[in-house]
Amino acid sequence: MQAVGVDLGGHKVAAGLVEGNSIRIRKKLEERTSPTREPAPVIAQIARMARDLGAGENVPVGICIPGGIDAARERAMMITNFPGWNGLPLRRMFEDAVGGFAVIENDANAYALGEGFAGAAKGMTDYVVLTLGTGIGGGVVAGGRLLTGAHGIAGELGHMVLGHDEPCGPGCGGLGHFEALCGADALERKAREMRLGQGQENLPVLKDLWLMRDDPAVASFWDFALDHIARGIATLVHVFDPQIMIVGGGLRKGVGFMELLKTRIFRYLGEPFKQTMNLCSSTLDTDAPIFGAAASALARRSRAPL
Ligand SMILES: [Zn+2]
Repeated sequence: MQAVGVDLGGHKVAAGLVEGNSIRIRKKLEERTSPTREPAPVIAQIARMARDLGAGENVPVGICIPGGIDAARERAMMITNFPGWNGLPLRRMFEDAVGGFAVIENDANAYALGEGFAGAAKGMTDYVVLTLGTGIGGGVVAGGRLLTGAHGIAGELGHMVLGHDEPCGPGCGGLGHFEALCGADALERKAREMRLGQGQENLPVLKDLWLMRDDPAVASFWDFALDHIARGIATLVHVFDPQIMIVGGGLRKGVGFMELLKTRIFRYLGEPFKQTMNLCSSTLDTDAPIFGAAASALARRSRAPL
């Protein structure tokens, strides 16, 4: 059994041919996203890439998109930075364009499904994936099913309220959200406000600031970041009681980051969660959404619950 998974991003489209039960992508394609990001050229681009990988009558395709989709997984609800997409019946449009069975999924949810299909949560029924990148996203699988909620938009882990009045991004509009505090953009803004690394040639990026963490001013910056991330994760562990709590995205790659984070999470965990908490890094990294989209296509074609 094979399926094609496609990860649509603002800057690039990545697609891969995935073999059922395999942990490797057999063949992969990457292109820059069609520059206008309008529906017709982007859908044609995705359909061409999917067909080049074998999608069609016998091989289903799953496409993950950077935004909200409805509970029935038929329509786009809120794709910021992609003009003219909201409300479109995307699943059917992709089926017509590819000439075979197609499904759509939100990219963060696809990331989580990918880790369950072929990654750190393979074979598990209860797990949470949190991705710490420019934005903060993720997904929750509970009792073997992706948590989608009444309107299809559950699992917005980056929008847990951990702060106060900090404004979240333009696609959200809420205040005090996790992403508004600890998304990479928000952290870099905070570092500039704290005038960290000002003597450097370029403005500091998080990777450099991590290496400078013994400096007292930089240490207080990381204290803020680690503390909020730890509180977010401890909350998720308390709410979902997962078998495994997976962290993805760029921040975790700093040497020693996960160890320090784990220590900080323990400060906030209640008993008996201290005994059960199982924190680990994403194993599929940026390929996770491709696996998840393909897994979703295979499962929904066979009407399995996902
Ligand atoms: Zn928000």
